[in-house]
Amino acid sequence: MNNFVYSQPVKIWFGPGKLKELSSVLDEFGVQKAVLVCGKHFRPEADKLMEAESRICAVFSEVEPNPQLSGAVETARLANQHGADAVIGIGGGSSIDTGKFAAAVACGEGDPVAYYHGELPFPEKRLTIIAVPTTAGTGSEVTQVSVMSHGKEKRTINNPAFMPRAAIVDPEMSLSVPPRTTMNTGLDALAHALEGYWSVNHQPISDLMAIEAVRTILANLETAWREPENLEARGKMAYASLLGGLSFALPKTAACHACSYPLSEDYHLPHGEACAFTLDSFVRINADDRLEALCTAVGLGGTAELADKIASLKVLAGLRTRLSDLGEVDLEKLCRDCAAHPLMNNNPVKLSLEQLRAMFEALK
Ligand code: NAD
Repeated sequence: MNNFVYSQPVKIWFGPGKLKELSSVLDEFGVQKAVLVCGKHFRPEADKLMEAESRICAVFSEVEPNPQLSGAVETARLANQHGADAVIGIGGGSSIDTGKFAAAVACGEGDPVAYYHGELPFPEKRLTIIAVPTTAGTGSEVTQVSVMSHGKEKRTINNPAFMPRAAIVDPEMSLSVPPRTTMNTGLDALAHALEGYWSVNHQPISDLMAIEAVRTILANLETAWREPENLEARGKMAYASLLGGLSFALPKTAACHACSYPLSEDYHLPHGEACAFTLDSFVRINADDRLEALCTAVGLGGTAELADKIASLKVLAGLRTRLSDLGEVDLEKLCRDCAAHPLMNNNPVKLSLEQLRAMFEALK
């Protein structure tokens, strides 16, 4: 048994219809005024929420996938204009991460780009963050991570300033997610669980949640993809995504996420699809006794079966699986960028540039 320090500071409300308890959550954290941040799909619902809850003083609904820093800056500006003390991020990871960054910088005097690049420490004073996921994927509601893009650059920033105070995980919110996004985000959740488990920083409590997340995703993702309105499957996926977030929150992710950044930045894959692109390859590369034990625990015959299962889910949903699906690929740059990403250091197998090239060559 290794030594560990475990901490999970987010209060979680989970269950169908839980968003109806938003007002009592705001009460619990003494919120006086809140800005709501979301994507366009949620704007009509955001307007209804604003009518029902007078403490929501403004809505920023322009968040796009791979969200730009400018959206967080605008959300922070709205918060200051209205004197808000909280930000409610409702949506996929893009909206939640935008809300987190806005909440962290709103009270600061510095240039948001300087905070983004780590040239200035985040201000001590910050707004309360309430996260409401509508996809079952990122687990952002329980992590101190915000992933923001500035121009073409996409950065994962890990800072306590981004830790939500509350997460409201209401599976009803995910009923409208289209099938392809369901598969992308579900495989992202699977990648979180597996990478948290095989990260060199893995620890026992996170491992338990990772195993349960993998078991639950393998049992429910295909159903949620086939039957978008199946609340039972959506609920299981929302739970698994939450567990996935908790499984990587402390150990952090590894090589598969490292490779997802160049794949999103240069070839515009959505985050989940970018993770899924190499996930089965890394299951094969990282196969060891611990991963075999996970496979046994979730009822699989072994790591090869796990990798095959992931590959078949990708094919089923029509995700891109070959380099030839990405257009013209600069293989040398792709391998260099993947190898240079700091998350590579968390992978249990240290990969040389040649090994990475061989992995991608096999995906030609
Ligand atoms: P997303 O937030 O980009 O959403 C994908 C698409 O689905 C968007 O067009 C969105 O408007 C739409 N959508 C979301 N919920 C919907 C719903 N209920 N009904 C209909 N449409 C809906 O996708 P995501 O995968 O949830 O988040 C990806 C982002 O999160 C990436 O930037 C990724 O890097 C980041 N991320 C963050 C963390 C973290 O811990 N902070 C972890 C993993 C990933």
